[in-house]
Amino acid sequence: VIKALSDLEKQAVIGHGNGGTVYKVYHKKSRSFYALKVLRLNENGIGIGIRQPAALEAEILKRVNSPYIVKCHAVFDHGICIEGDNGGDISFVMEYMEGGSLHDVLRQHRRLPEEVISVLAKRVLQGLKYLQSMHVVHRDIKPSNLLVNDKGEVKIADFGVSHVVEGKFEGSDDNAGTCAYMSPERVDPDRWSGANADEFAGDVWSMGVVMLECLLGYFPLLGPGQKPDWATLMCAICFGEKLEMPEKASSQFQNFVRRCLEKDWRKRATVFELLHHPFVS
Ligand code: ATP
Ligand code: MG
Repeated sequence: VIKALSDLEKQAVIGHGNGGTVYKVYHKKSRSFYALKVLRLNENGIGIGIRQPAALEAEILKRVNSPYIVKCHAVFDHGICIEGDNGGDISFVMEYMEGGSLHDVLRQHRRLPEEVISVLAKRVLQGLKYLQSMHVVHRDIKPSNLLVNDKGEVKIADFGVSHVVEGKFEGSDDNAGTCAYMSPERVDPDRWSGANADEFAGDVWSMGVVMLECLLGYFPLLGPGQKPDWATLMCAICFGEKLEMPEKASSQFQNFVRRCLEKDWRKRATVFELLHHPFVS
C-alpha cells in the first residue's frame, strides 16, 4: 500500500500527455515499480478546466478493478490522499506497464500479425465489456492509451476524457478525445444521428480503427501524404467510402473491422457481438 507520495522515488519520465507527465517511480517499502501520472493544475492557468475531469478520472479509476484495465493503486491531491477539491497537483499511482503503449510497439514493429491482433482485440473487448458494466464510456481508445506489461498483456488506460453514462458524474463534454479515432456520430452528430447514439458504439469504432492500423502499419483513414488536420479527418471519417483493407488479410479480420467501422452506429456491431466474432473467439 502506498501511503505517501514521498515514499516514491522518481526514476524517469515515461510519457507526456495533455496537461500531464507520467514517471516511472520506485516504492522502496514494497520494492516495486509504479507509474505516476501527475496532472499540473495550477501552472499557466490550465488549472480550472482540468480539475473537474481530473476528479472524474480519479473517481472512475477508483471504481474500476479488472485485469483488462490498468490498475490505479492510489490518487493523491497535493500530496495527500484525495478527498475533495483543494487545489494543486493530482497524482495517480498506477500499475507500471513495462512494455509501454501500443503506439510505441507499432513504432518499433510497424505491423502486427493477425494472431497478435486477435489476442489484442479480445482483451480490449473484454475491457470494454467490463467498462460497460460499470457504465463507463472510455471515449479515447487509441494506440497510446493501450498499454502493454512484461507478460505481453494489453490493458486499457487513461480515463482523462471518459464519461459515466446515466450517472452522477459528468465529464468535460464535447470535443473530448482525439479526433482521429472518433466515430462519425461524434464528429458530425447532425448527419449521423449522434444525439441519441449509443455512446458505447463510439469506443467500438475507435477500436476498429486501431486494429486496422495494427495490420496496415499506418493510420488507415488517411492516404499517404494527407495532412491529419481536422477538416481532412472529418471528411475521411464521415464520408470516406472505401476502407483500405490489406489483400492478404483473412476474411474474418476484414469482416471484424468492417463491423466496427460501420458508419451508422445503429448498424455497427456491439462489444457483445464482437466477443463472439470468429476473429477473436
Ligand atoms: P495522451 O493525450 O497521449 O493520451 P495523457 O495525458 O492522456 O496522454 P496517458 O495516456 O495516461 O496521458 O499517458 C501518456 C503516456 O505515458 C502513455 O501513452 C504511455 O506511453 C505512458 N504511460 C502512461 N501510463 C503508464 C503506465 N501505467 N505504465 C507505463 N507507461 C505509462
Ligand atoms: Mg493518453
